[in-house]
Amino acid sequence: MSHSDPACIFCKIVEGKIPSRKVYEDDEILAFHDIHPWAPVHFLMIPKAHVPSLAHVSDDHAPLLGRMMTLAPRLALQEGCRPYPEGGHRVVVNTGAEGGQEVHHLHVHVMGGPRPWLKG
Ligand code: AMP
Ligand code: ZN
Repeated sequence: MSHSDPACIFCKIVEGKIPSRKVYEDDEILAFHDIHPWAPVHFLMIPKAHVPSLAHVSDDHAPLLGRMMTLAPRLALQEGCRPYPEGGHRVVVNTGAEGGQEVHHLHVHVMGGPRPWLKG
């Protein structure tokens, strides 16, 4: 599996070729605001390496996925979600066409903030 796909919009964001509003960055993970938010807080967390979808992960990805899951609540609070249980947030990974995936670089949606939301 290639590290970066030149045709992939999220790889271009990782490389800084397309701008994004950054929420968080480390060696392996980038988080940035969704361009069409469904909720008052809506950002995406992606691996910097090109992984097409959750259907493509192996045991080797478990530490990365675990780190994304532990980052989600921390970044949600940082971005203005109220704490659990009154506040909280939704974590979604759309996978494949029937799973509603439009961008084929693995991404974790994190949504939160006061209701109603545009969707969901
Ligand atoms: P999905 O349907 O799960 O593949 O979601 C892809 C998400 O990426 C959508 O919510 C889009 O609004 C978002 N998106 C697409 N292009 C960009 C971009 N350039 N910057 C930020 N978010 C984007
Ligand atoms: Zn990519």
